Amino acid sequence: MKYYDKLIFELSREGRKGYELPANEFAEAVKYEIPGNLLRQESADLPEVSELDVVRHYTNLSTKNFGVDTGFYPLGSCTMKYNPKINEEIAALPQFAAIHPLQSEDTVQGALELYFNLQRALSEIAGLGEFTLNPFAGAHGELTGLMVMRAYHEQNGDCKRRKVIVPNSAHGTNPASAMVAGLEVVEVKSKPNGSVDVEDLKPLLNDEVAGIMMTNPNTLGMFETEILEIARLVHDAGGLLYYDGANLNPLLGKVRPGDMGFDIMHINLHKTFSTPHGGGGPGSGPVGVRKGLEHLLPNPRVTRDENGKFHISESKDSLGSISAFCGNFGVMLKAYAYILSLGKENIKMVGPMATLNANYIKENLKDDYLLPIEGVCKHEFVFDGLKDKSTGVTTLNVAKRLLDYGFHAPTIYFPLLFHESMMIEPTETESIETLDEFIEVMHKVAQEARETPEDVKNAPLSTLVRKLDETGAAKHPILNYKALKAQQA
Ligand SMILES: *Cc1c(COP(=O)(O)O)cnc(C)c1O
Repeated sequence: MKYYDKLIFELSREGRKGYELPANEFAEAVKYEIPGNLLRQESADLPEVSELDVVRHYTNLSTKNFGVDTGFYPLGSCTMKYNPKINEEIAALPQFAAIHPLQSEDTVQGALELYFNLQRALSEIAGLGEFTLNPFAGAHGELTGLMVMRAYHEQNGDCKRRKVIVPNSAHGTNPASAMVAGLEVVEVKSKPNGSVDVEDLKPLLNDEVAGIMMTNPNTLGMFETEILEIARLVHDAGGLLYYDGANLNPLLGKVRPGDMGFDIMHINLHKTFSTPHGGGGPGSGPVGVRKGLEHLLPNPRVTRDENGKFHISESKDSLGSISAFCGNFGVMLKAYAYILSLGKENIKMVGPMATLNANYIKENLKDDYLLPIEGVCKHEFVFDGLKDKSTGVTTLNVAKRLLDYGFHAPTIYFPLLFHESMMIEPTETESIETLDEFIEVMHKVAQEARETPEDVKNAPLSTLVRKLDETGAAKHPILNYKALKAQQA
């Protein structure tokens, strides 16, 4: 281990300082303003290091991390596409970054115009009437959308509609959001090819159903060809269709959820529209609704009057507020920059390119990896581990071994439909050279599994930390230096 890879507390030397503060003129005043029991009695136990130590420590650490900017990251369902740097530059412009949410409308007309334009662009892309940009994440969008669904039925006096149908292949946030929205989850089965079983759906539809949550293409990357029939059945039963549009990649320029019959949806700007994610945020999960439901969207919204002036408006029919102010504006700027820089023509290429890349990998690897569902996939697909299971090498082993070769692992053990799921999504931003390199490495790992399985089982061999005790980390997390010291003592 290099010296600067040590914990920052281990680099600490008593009395060493990396800063100089002016004399505190307010110390006396603070004593009167803050109650004595809340005042710190002794100084905080912080690492004492020079500026250079700090710079070397964190710069070294940053090179240990894996990111889209350092390597291929085929994380299915999470869409780790490249985030063009121009997006960051635009979001950082002081004209945007330095405005305050409480400024008067007159002083932020430009920002409001952009906000309004993004609402319109998403409506056009999704084929829906109106969008709110307020939710902070995909799951937050789901909750907002389900609150719209619930409010719609309640306004119709249809209060017993509390059941939401969710396919057993759905993303985990779907049933969780339904529960948080006070609705009851009913599971509909998938057919062996992964699509919703229409015959299983029919008997579930009755006057207690609020709606169905779906994503299309589904979690297995397969297009639900019976979607129009499903939409007809659910609407005839008085329910609404919710679309989980976290990953809109494959649809861009090809199909629109609104045209498939969906009434409500969310989009993850931090997946489809190329804004960075991971590490917990910031995200943005705008929610769209078809015409006739827009009055229920949360407050506030940005509107334009007949003179072309923009306003932050509140509607009295709205379900209320679900965020502070108007959501994560910085993320919206990045997404808007991405949409404009692609333009109407190029955005149509995103879906086909993402689809082509996924199929290219799938077809080139299915001799070594088990493909449970044949056929053309959309932007992602799922392998059920290695084809040859006799070596005892698992999906987890393969995932760890990929790190040794400089690739991030795919999503593993999700969806739950297979025991050894490996969900691969290359995205449209990768070159054929990168895809070929990945294919070669995946073949090499399969060969190692046959010939030197211990190498794969013990992977990663070359990373700073080796295989971690993930269960232990989740059950007994050590979150600070004191806890680490206590454990070592
Ligand atoms: C990522 C994802 C979500 C949740 O989005 P968050 O922003 O992480 O809350 C929901 N559904 C699907 C299909 C996703 O891939």
